[in-house]
Amino acid sequence: MPMVHNIRRQAGLAELAQQRGLRLTSQRRLIFSILESAPTHLNAKQILEEARKQDPGIDQVTVYRNLSVMKRMGVIDELDLLHLRGEEHYYEVRQLREHCHVGCLSCGQMFEFVTPAMKAINKALEKECNYKVAYARIEIGGYCAKCRGKEEQGKVIQKGKRVRSLTSATSRI
Ligand SMILES: [Zn+2]
Ligand SMILES: [Zn+2]
Repeated sequence: MPMVHNIRRQAGLAELAQQRGLRLTSQRRLIFSILESAPTHLNAKQILEEARKQDPGIDQVTVYRNLSVMKRMGVIDELDLLHLRGEEHYYEVRQLREHCHVGCLSCGQMFEFVTPAMKAINKALEKECNYKVAYARIEIGGYCAKCRGKEEQGKVIQKGKRVRSLTSATSRI
């Protein structure tokens, strides 16, 4: 099955930092290890909470500033994940293996999907537009099997919200 919820991170911090010229401080190591071991994408507030568990002295400014430096250096990526959970932004460690973020507009579940098609897009851009891709980010919105299952039982899913049942006498779709 090609669907995965969490892809194995392939580049370690030391390797990434060396590639990008990022100075390794204890705070950056901490943030990186939190993101590396997180089972899901975390927002800045969740990263701060995790960081405080391991280093109670760390403050919000330090964590947020380091997130922005690490993002600028290409060590981590900031994602909006289709804004399925509002205006929050999420972070993940930059990965050697590119993946798409696929979200369900009904239940909000998000998973990562790896496909050779992403490499094919990069190659096509290079060939057709003489463009060298540094990184690609693809986000896809749709409906998961579980939510479509509910739909088949008489519910209609529209614009991310479940609306009245088809069997309701008053509903007209
Ligand atoms: Zn769903
Ligand atoms: Zn991801």
